Order: sequence, then structure tokens, then C-alpha cells
Amino acid sequence: MTVLIDKTGSKETPRPRHPEKANRPDSEVLRKPSWIRVKAPTSKGYAETRKIVHDKGLVTVCEEAACPNIGECWEKSHATFMILGDTCTRACAFCNVKTGLPGPVDQEEAGKIGFAVKEMGLSHVVITSVDRDDLADGGAQYFVDVINAIREQSPKTTIEILTPDFLRKDGATETVIDARPDVFNHNLETVPRLYLKIRPGARYYHSLRLLEKVKERDPNQFTKSGLMVGLGETKEEVMQVMDDMRSAGIDFLTIGQYLQPTRKHAPIDRFVTPEEFKAYETIAKAKGFLLVSATPLTRSSYHADSDFAKLQAARRSRR
Ligand code: SF4
Repeated sequence: MTVLIDKTGSKETPRPRHPEKANRPDSEVLRKPSWIRVKAPTSKGYAETRKIVHDKGLVTVCEEAACPNIGECWEKSHATFMILGDTCTRACAFCNVKTGLPGPVDQEEAGKIGFAVKEMGLSHVVITSVDRDDLADGGAQYFVDVINAIREQSPKTTIEILTPDFLRKDGATETVIDARPDVFNHNLETVPRLYLKIRPGARYYHSLRLLEKVKERDPNQFTKSGLMVGLGETKEEVMQVMDDMRSAGIDFLTIGQYLQPTRKHAPIDRFVTPEEFKAYETIAKAKGFLLVSATPLTRSSYHADSDFAKLQAARRSRR
């Protein structure tokens, strides 16, 4: 049996990175097909981004989620900052972010991110967070603080947020919407039938409604949502989710292959082929999304800067 040890813990008191998964049976990690392989991150740009992130004590989802695109993204200074710590209060079956009871919130985090964005000269930045069910507002005000700090330090940078669901936190979503990020992203992650297995702490219709609320309250904000495929969903179920998303007014859909972080995480059902991704893209475009990114390595924040420009152009062309 594999025991997952949190390598960031001390030698004396190692703790499992995902304690809730430690007693789960191991599942086989499938060998990746040729279209999933990525190069090891070795570029100068990657090293520079890594230095800024680590020197400032910032957390990124790129590292915490072991994203396969980190070499490519960090070479271009595109890091996705994860606020509110590195420990998540949920225990999703697909996610590599550490779980447990988080420590106190770093009150200087917003300022540090503002400075980092300025130093890195980012034209577009993506901010996400762990899920903080322990906080009264789920961390909504911290999203606002970070947005304000970036605007203060780097006024021309456009801001994309990728939020948790703020389940059972009245008024939290509205607080964040009113800070007027340029893109409001919240991932549905999978089809409703698989929620109990893959995203047990979340509710499909709550997540959908969150995104609908953004459009109702501020129609100018772009809304974005993503799905992982290869978890056992059917094509019909994916198409139904696309329809649900369009009913909620979602502008931008991302679809990528689920990759199993460890033997304790949900197993991959299958690798979806590049041709099937292309078919999803074609179908989604026909359903009216402003923009669709559907490739095996698509992630929520992959190419977010250039995609933001495409989103704006797509909106202009429809007016
Ligand atoms: S795709 Fe997103 S999470 Fe992955 S490395 Fe790029 S910016 Fe980071």
C-alpha cells in the first residue's frame, strides 16, 4: 500500500498530503498515451518564474496540482496564484492540492500578489484559491482584496478568477462579482452523475447557478467553466452539461483530460483521443459558446491570457 507523505512537512512530523485518502485501496495509474507527454521544465523563463514565486512565498496551483503544463506556462511567466493557503477543506477525488485544516490566512498575501504581478509584467493574471469552508464567507473578501491589490499595483492587468463554490456562504458570490473581475471562472469539473464520486462536497446545480448569477448581476463579466473528461462520463452527458452551461449564459468552455495524481485518487476511466476533443470543440461551438478550448492538456488557466483576447474579439464580432 502506498502512503502519501506531505513532503512540505517536517521530518519529525510527516503527515499524509491527503489524510482522507490514505486508507483507500490503490488503483492502477495508466500509462499516458503519446499525445499527453510533456517535456521536463528546464527553460530560463521557468527558473525565473519559479524564483519570483518562491522568493515571495506565494502558492500556485501550477505546483500544488502538479499541472503538466508548468514548463510551458512558467517559461512565459504565466503562473496561476492560489490564495488562502495551500490546504483545502474539501476532499475531491481528482485533486492533488493538500487537504486538511488550513492555518490562518496570510493578511499580506494580497499585497504580495499585487507586487508579483507588477514585477512579472503580466497583462492577464489568473487567481484561484483552495476551498475554505472554515471561513464565514468562504474567502470571498480575500478574492476582493487580491483583485484590489492587483488593480493598485498593475492597473492595466486584466484579472481572471477561478473560485470555489462558496456553498452555504450567503452573499459570498455577490461580494466577488461586485469586485468586477474581467473573467469569472468556476469549474463544473464533471457531469452531474459523477459528482458524488468525484466532487462529493459540491452540488452540480449550485455551481451552475453560481455562474448564472454572475451573468445576471454583471453581464459584462465573461463567465467560464471547465470539465475534465476520461472519468467515465458519456458523450451524451457532456453534451447535456454544455446545454446547461449555455442556459446559464456561460461564455467560455474548457475541456481537458483528467490525469490521476496518485494511486489514491480517482482512477482514469480512459484517455479521450485528440479527435474526440476536436469533436467536443465543434459541438460546443455550435451550441453558441463564445470560446471553446478542448484538448487533452487544456486546463482552466492554460493560455488564459491569449484566450482572454480571443474572448473579447468574439464578443465584439457578435455585437
Ligand atoms: S495550465 Fe494553469 S495551472 Fe497549469 S501550469 Fe499553466 S497556468 Fe499553471
